[in-house]
Amino acid sequence: MTAIVWFRRDLRLHDHAALHKAVQTGEDIVPVCILEDRFCRSETVGDRRLHAFLSAVGALETNLEHAGSRLIIRHGESLQVLEQLIQETGADKLFYNRDYSPFARSRDEQVEMAFCSKGVFVQGCKDLVLHEPGEIMNKQGKEYAVFTPFRRVWQTLPKDRPFPIAEKFPTWDGITDLLSEKAPVVEQFGREKPLGEQWKPSLFGEEAARQRLKQFIEEDLYRYKEKRDFPGVEGTSRLSFALQAGTLSIRTVYHAAAEALLEARGDEVASIESFLTELIWREFYQQVLFFHPHTVEHAYLPQFEEVAWENKEQLFSLWCHAQTGYPIVDAAMRQLNETGWMHNRLRMITASFLTKDLLVDWRAGMAYFAKQLIDCDDAANIGGWQWSASTGTDPQPYFRIFNPVSQGEKFDPDGAFVKKYLPVLQHVPLQYIHKPWEMPLHLQEQTGCVIGLDYPPPCVDHAQRRKLALSLFQEARDRH
Ligand code: FAD
Repeated sequence: MTAIVWFRRDLRLHDHAALHKAVQTGEDIVPVCILEDRFCRSETVGDRRLHAFLSAVGALETNLEHAGSRLIIRHGESLQVLEQLIQETGADKLFYNRDYSPFARSRDEQVEMAFCSKGVFVQGCKDLVLHEPGEIMNKQGKEYAVFTPFRRVWQTLPKDRPFPIAEKFPTWDGITDLLSEKAPVVEQFGREKPLGEQWKPSLFGEEAARQRLKQFIEEDLYRYKEKRDFPGVEGTSRLSFALQAGTLSIRTVYHAAAEALLEARGDEVASIESFLTELIWREFYQQVLFFHPHTVEHAYLPQFEEVAWENKEQLFSLWCHAQTGYPIVDAAMRQLNETGWMHNRLRMITASFLTKDLLVDWRAGMAYFAKQLIDCDDAANIGGWQWSASTGTDPQPYFRIFNPVSQGEKFDPDGAFVKKYLPVLQHVPLQYIHKPWEMPLHLQEQTGCVIGLDYPPPCVDHAQRRKLALSLFQEARDRH
């Protein structure tokens, strides 16, 4: 008998729930990955994001070859491709890991219905999270709308251990005769391949992810709390792509940190706990999206669905192109545009700036992030944007508005981060680094940073826009 294992956002062999369950059945396995047009050909997915994903698929293909198996890679609609494969292989079982986004849920339901009616056994497995939506409910049997009580319950629950790696497993005899795309690359989809060392395909595979985890646990985990808010220092794990594409499992990450916690002393304990809290945020947002699929497009808080955003094209374009005149915002946007990743503190600052200073609808910013971020995860992106725009689950009121100058001064105190991404500020004295427009003209000339010539003036006045944002939110609330 034959079992198909369908790889989606779990591109690894280590600690893989669906593969583990399939191997346990003792059946011959057909590993498959389907490249759906809605992702690979979508204009909403940038070249770099696609490159990272396809590189991870390529790495999985190589790893399966080393395990004596083969990854069947096909283009098309998942249901049709799977139906075709079932016909070709005579498989009677299908295993996959569950995904909680609205699109994935409806696709998987269709697949399940179609196959169950044909007598194919279909099993979805828990793998993307430690605790699935629905596992953590309040006394009234409802999901938690606020993070802190969710976290408290999450922490008390027992956690699954990592599954052993499936080093060798029986592969379906005829697998070499099956049609499969060879090592997918972005050019196949009419995209441009990103150039440079940082885009080497091997950096996006399972080995690189495991290496990154090891390095983080050894070097930065113990000081995570102290360093995590400063974009100018390497203080966070940078595991978000690995967790998004599933080149690393959440069980592996959690247990690596939990084991370190057993050995930790003093401040190290708070650091590791703070890292674990971020993993809980990841699961919190998965459950918010699961129970509130409308948040893909609409405000979680209905009173803020109708904020009268100005939506000025020109301001949105300045933000996207790192030309707002606020160094911390522009440097952050350059980090995003150049590397496909942005530090968490900067995601909050740029999202707050777009919505509360530029008065552009959060959905435009969220779509821009989704295109550029290689770690884009619908649940976290929606959660992060709605948190920043004050339309989400956050109990903080909408009048928390980040000041881009004081945020820069607090979290990039030596200006190292802004100088890295905005070399034009290289010689600007520290006191002006986050507000270069205040430099006297002679100093602007001396430092090679003349405002309006070498670097743009601030595109809006923060104090004025703050007042306007407050009144727009107030009006939306009153209208509701
Ligand atoms: P670490 O600080 O090392 O955290 C470890 C892991 O915890 C991360 O890799 C991530 O999986 C998870 N995590 C951390 N913070 C959060 C959070 N606030 N919400 C959910 N999960 C979290 N994260 C994404 O993975 N994908 C996104 O598309 C995404 N979009 C965001 C948009 C906005 C506006 C904001 C404010 C945040 C967003 N985040 C997103 C959350 C967070 O910024 C990133 O997870 C983090 O910066 C990734 O870097 P890291 O791996 O070094 O994180």
